[in-house]
Amino acid sequence: MAVDRAGLGEPPPAPRGRPPILFPLFAGVETLPGVGPRAAEGLAALSITRPRDLLFHLPAAGIRRRRVPRLADLRPPEIATVTVRVQRHVSPAARGRPWRVVCTDGANDLTLVFFHARQPWIESQLPLGETRVVSGKVDLFDGLARMVHPDHILSPSDPPPAGFEPVYPLAGTLTQRVVARAAAAALDRAAPLAEWIEPSVLAREGWPDWRGALAAAHAPAGMADLSPSAPARARLAYDELLAHQMTLALVRQGRRRVAGRITQGDGRLAGRVLAALPWPLTGAQTRAAAEIAADMAAPARMNRLLQGDVGSGKTLVALLALLTAVEAGGQGVLMAPTEILARQHLAAIAPLARAAGVRAALLTGRDKGEARERLLADLAAGLVQVLIGTHAVFQPGVVFDDLRLAVIDEQHRFGVAQRLELGAKGQRPDMLVMTATPIPRSLALAQYGDMDLSVLDEKPPGRQPIATTALPVSRIEEVVARLEAAMARGARAYWVCPLVEESELVDLTAAEDRFGMLRARLGERVRLVHGQMPPDQRDASMADFTAGRAQLLVATTVIEVGVNVPEATIMVIERAESFGLAQLHQLRGRVGRGTGASSCVLLYQEPLSEAGRRRLQILRETEDGFRIAEEDLAMRGAGDVIGTAQSGLPRFRIADLERQADLLATARQDARLLLDQDPDLQSPRGQAVRTLLWLMEQDRAVRLMGSG
Ligand code: ADP
Ligand code: MG
Repeated sequence: MAVDRAGLGEPPPAPRGRPPILFPLFAGVETLPGVGPRAAEGLAALSITRPRDLLFHLPAAGIRRRRVPRLADLRPPEIATVTVRVQRHVSPAARGRPWRVVCTDGANDLTLVFFHARQPWIESQLPLGETRVVSGKVDLFDGLARMVHPDHILSPSDPPPAGFEPVYPLAGTLTQRVVARAAAAALDRAAPLAEWIEPSVLAREGWPDWRGALAAAHAPAGMADLSPSAPARARLAYDELLAHQMTLALVRQGRRRVAGRITQGDGRLAGRVLAALPWPLTGAQTRAAAEIAADMAAPARMNRLLQGDVGSGKTLVALLALLTAVEAGGQGVLMAPTEILARQHLAAIAPLARAAGVRAALLTGRDKGEARERLLADLAAGLVQVLIGTHAVFQPGVVFDDLRLAVIDEQHRFGVAQRLELGAKGQRPDMLVMTATPIPRSLALAQYGDMDLSVLDEKPPGRQPIATTALPVSRIEEVVARLEAAMARGARAYWVCPLVEESELVDLTAAEDRFGMLRARLGERVRLVHGQMPPDQRDASMADFTAGRAQLLVATTVIEVGVNVPEATIMVIERAESFGLAQLHQLRGRVGRGTGASSCVLLYQEPLSEAGRRRLQILRETEDGFRIAEEDLAMRGAGDVIGTAQSGLPRFRIADLERQADLLATARQDARLLLDQDPDLQSPRGQAVRTLLWLMEQDRAVRLMGSG
């Protein structure tokens, strides 16, 4: 990737296959006229090492220069271009004082001011009696017009400075002039390229061609041209998005080409489960289940993301998919990121599996010895049909008879490598990834563009809203008193302690202190869980709480994902301001899962920052996870919403995921459509897209697309 190559020196040899038309753009940046070693160093600090990088280094702002015919018409302070005659050189009155050059237009004076200037330079630039065009910021000093360090000093025969001048981001000793000249030289090297954008898209948007877009983006005529929606910039952003989506589409195509298996259920087992349920599926569940079943029945390998807010009923959709695998004579595995979650999935699934006559079993890292051996033998013999587990299912001894479906819950906690490992276990099982973190559509497309998407955008009916309040921690006594009263009426509650300190130890101390305090106040019915506890103690606490022997669970954020105790109706989150929006939403989602009216108390430490205040406010306003995710994105930016490194979320130079979600959706459609029509990128447009992928250094795509 260009951004990683900060060092200069010899450019690496061109990778095989790069179209020769692009060679000049991939030479070293110092091969451009006017770019010496110092300029190259400054450019490298901006991750610009080749002319190509300069093309995509666009002005970030602009300066309007007003041409003012007569000095009398100046309106200081303003940036103006004027034509004057040099009248007088005034040498510095003392050390450290500036040179002054008094100029006139015949009627009025303008003084040019230079600090640290030397006489020969002044005399050569502004010879006495000569006419010069000067441009810069004019202000008033002691009532007299002056211009300190003009940006331009030109002779009347030179081309005048542009009325609107681009301002590039700089680094090191770079100046605007150096970058502008280098960018212009890079543009000169850019040959026109065959169009890769679908003609109808190009026409609809009214975009210029690639080269025209670059030229226009580097020569804005006004502020409007700097906007992301200006046609030239929008087109260049689209190029980036298209290249990225093409890569993902190629990955998807490559995966689909490796023949998967046809897993066709007959609905026999699923029917029994649906009959055993006290309620019907939601519309969204029905839709998602059908999409999954269709994928499984198709010969291509499924790679689908099931996205649904907390409580939208993903587990049931997953179970139906697992049963499809069993109906077809195979097995399925469901993997959860923590043991608590794996146990809970088993608890939810076991009774339904029993109703269907299917054998489900749990495998965690704690299973040892003979019981484990027996389980593994049954799994290898196909007697265990649905396996639920943690990372332990990756262990070498875990062998399936006929693994047809892998469901991964909360995928961001599993690495890509582990997903691949799992893929190696079965005969290329279909993959269903579930995430309870609603992601704005734009991010979902960017991050999971290689997957197909099912969204549970509807919650089971009858859910009551969660009354959410925010209180300063100084009112903690009131909260404890209300909690005590509610517990006396049989309520169950969570108390979440924050992760504020760097060190987990400090956090645990905080949680343990809080536990001690609440236990002293509320007695025996209080339990503690945190990630560092011995597993059996943790299980015991959870089991007590689930069964109602305990009524208050003091926890660190281990309960964030998935913990499901429908009787719990109160959630207290301490130092709520220190959590992110998505996390707060997840935590709150632990209550409001049953029939009882639920509440959530956000305890915060004063003073609240503006962002902290806004987060708590959004949370009080809505329970819609997708809306919360959009707000989160707007507040934090894409890279932070999903950690960039782990997500593989690309860094775009021009495109803006927050504001250009529509372009991204178009790019995804366009990319998939093109591959449907021209899977090997052999058509003229396919060839043009190849060039785009080389230009955008989509290495993964370049490897996938084969030779053209
Ligand atoms: P998620 O995993 O998406 O957060 P769950 O699968 O844990 O949600 O479901 C949340 C709760 O809703 C569970 O108690 C589940 O039994 C219940 N549930 C699921 N589907 C429905 C439905 N269609 N109607 C009513 N309740 C449902
Ligand atoms: Mg769940």
